[in-house]
Amino acid sequence: MMKRIYILIVAILAGSAAAAQVPELKPEVFDLLDLDRPGLEQVKALRSEGKDAEAAAALLDYYKNRKGIRTPEIRDVKKVKINKEQQQWADDALNHTFFAHKGYQPSYNYGEDINWRYWPVEDNELRWQLHRHKWFAPMGRAYRVSGDEKYAIEWTKQYIDWIRKNPYVKISKAEYEITNDSQLKDDAENSRFAWRPLEVSHRLQDQPVQFQLFIDSPAFTAEFLTEFLVNYHRHAEHIISNYSKQGNHLLFEAQRMLYAGTFFPEFKKAETWRQSGVEVLNREINVQVYDDGGQYELCPHYHLAAINIFIKALEVADVNGFRNAFPQSYIDTIEKMIEFYTNISFPDYTNPCFSDAKLVTKKEMLNNYKDWSKLFPDNGLIRHMATEGAEGALPEYLSKGYLTSGFFVFRNSWDSDAIQMIVKAGPPAFWHNQPDNGTFELWYNGKNLFQDSGSYVYAGKGEVMEERNWFRRSSVHNTLTLGNKNFETTDSKTLLWQPEGEVQILVTENQSYKNLKHRRSIFFVDGSYFVIVDEAVGDAKGSVNLHYQMPRSGKTPIENTAEEMYFATTFKEGSNFKLECFGPEGMTKKKEEGWQSPAYKKKYKRMNVSYNVRKEAGEPVRYITVIALKEDGGNNPKLSAKFLNKTFEESRLKLQVKCGKDKRTLEYNL
Ligand code: MG
Repeated sequence: MMKRIYILIVAILAGSAAAAQVPELKPEVFDLLDLDRPGLEQVKALRSEGKDAEAAAALLDYYKNRKGIRTPEIRDVKKVKINKEQQQWADDALNHTFFAHKGYQPSYNYGEDINWRYWPVEDNELRWQLHRHKWFAPMGRAYRVSGDEKYAIEWTKQYIDWIRKNPYVKISKAEYEITNDSQLKDDAENSRFAWRPLEVSHRLQDQPVQFQLFIDSPAFTAEFLTEFLVNYHRHAEHIISNYSKQGNHLLFEAQRMLYAGTFFPEFKKAETWRQSGVEVLNREINVQVYDDGGQYELCPHYHLAAINIFIKALEVADVNGFRNAFPQSYIDTIEKMIEFYTNISFPDYTNPCFSDAKLVTKKEMLNNYKDWSKLFPDNGLIRHMATEGAEGALPEYLSKGYLTSGFFVFRNSWDSDAIQMIVKAGPPAFWHNQPDNGTFELWYNGKNLFQDSGSYVYAGKGEVMEERNWFRRSSVHNTLTLGNKNFETTDSKTLLWQPEGEVQILVTENQSYKNLKHRRSIFFVDGSYFVIVDEAVGDAKGSVNLHYQMPRSGKTPIENTAEEMYFATTFKEGSNFKLECFGPEGMTKKKEEGWQSPAYKKKYKRMNVSYNVRKEAGEPVRYITVIALKEDGGNNPKLSAKFLNKTFEESRLKLQVKCGKDKRTLEYNL
């Protein structure tokens, strides 16, 4: 008897799972559409006669024959291509193995009866991004390329399955605490992932692409169309009332509202959506981009993303005939943002891994520059980057400062053999920013010698959060901490920026802790070596730590001895440094665990070092670091340095430095 009941339950469950995937005619769709639009006459007539099924069929006919509305991704459905990766995602998806996140490969299987709440690793990104349905458009491409209906059939099933199993449920915290309804709780919890506005906006952008790719399939029935449109409408309305407050999320959402309003002008709300997107973008480009062209999250990755969001909106406007919704100042700001990005990139097109930035590839960036060059054909620098130097022109300046955003670039050339240091010392920023004021990356002769630790993961539970916190710590940057603790404040002030001449200087100051101010003075001497002066001033007592992150060196040793205060790389490839720190009596040197993460969930071991001094209350602690650059791994130059002003002074600094044969006095007066 028990066994029979069990079988019966299984049968019901299996039956309901299958039924869940069958699209139903949604008559409410007719109320959402403006049936007075040209082309919808028949839909309107049938609807008014109460013939909903026929009206839906007429609507499908209308969409199949609709012309002139396009997304930039699919200019012509007959010329769709698919790459190997997309084909893989499409094929995996047939078995419910879903590509949710690059950092979690191979992809997880979500079960025969799809469990959209499966969370194999409690990283928020993994669960959020599942709801971006990144495999849907590739299934559409696979369908177009092969003509195989299996992709279309499976896509419609998964599309409906997702709707049925991911209701939007919002309850208050108090309600959540007291309710005994576990289904309600589970739905509310799930909605935080499935209905996060960023994910909703992702689907909003992607679904018009899927729509174009699948609409000719017999699996795309009139019933399905009504489900699709009602669901799509709900998505756009969800964004309108749940826009993120700020940052790149808001930009993504706005740009995608523009998509929604443009791609489905038949909705009564379409014009509202489109206007909302335009309005937010026109407003936010002024809020989120500083006057120097830096995006205010102070993260190269999101700076780049913001450029492409603004451009994508412009493209959609362009292909659909309303480019004049964006004023010239909008376009000028994008150009400034690109120049900013080019300046803070290295000669091999890679970027600093500051904040939550991942390492971009040259291929990716060449594609970006080629696109950007079409938009800005007269910009010599963009053209130069797009053509790898074959055309265009380099700017007349070398070093360049972005004082509002707090990014400073020292360079002696734009070529691969350049010496280039990028310093980050900016104002307070947001979630993707890290407490790293004063840190830098340094490129020399084809190699990045001081790479930022990166970010590794975003957020989640337990171990995931611990990993994130390791990578964002102040102490794993090239800067100064008190007791290895994170900065309490990240608000650097630029006291001096002198980007020209034989000795170029940056003086920047951050009140890193309530009772400890960090002043960092960087001298770029004769276009060949750096002198960094760190002064820790205030009442704080305790250990002051000056950190430097060594490059990944594999089996090649980084030369150092127990007694001496230097580290020197011994690479053969023509890019090496000797770094030596000169501090007060009693300074100790420590080798620590280090990691560098170029991409999500990817990391490489390396060595970090710190120079540590016990600070007594009131007494400033001062260090001088000299970084000499050289091609070979031997023949280290002799370095020395000493202060000529005996203690910290607010308005001046004077020191004497020797780097090999070069001996000189460095100073400034504020
Ligand atoms: Mg960092």
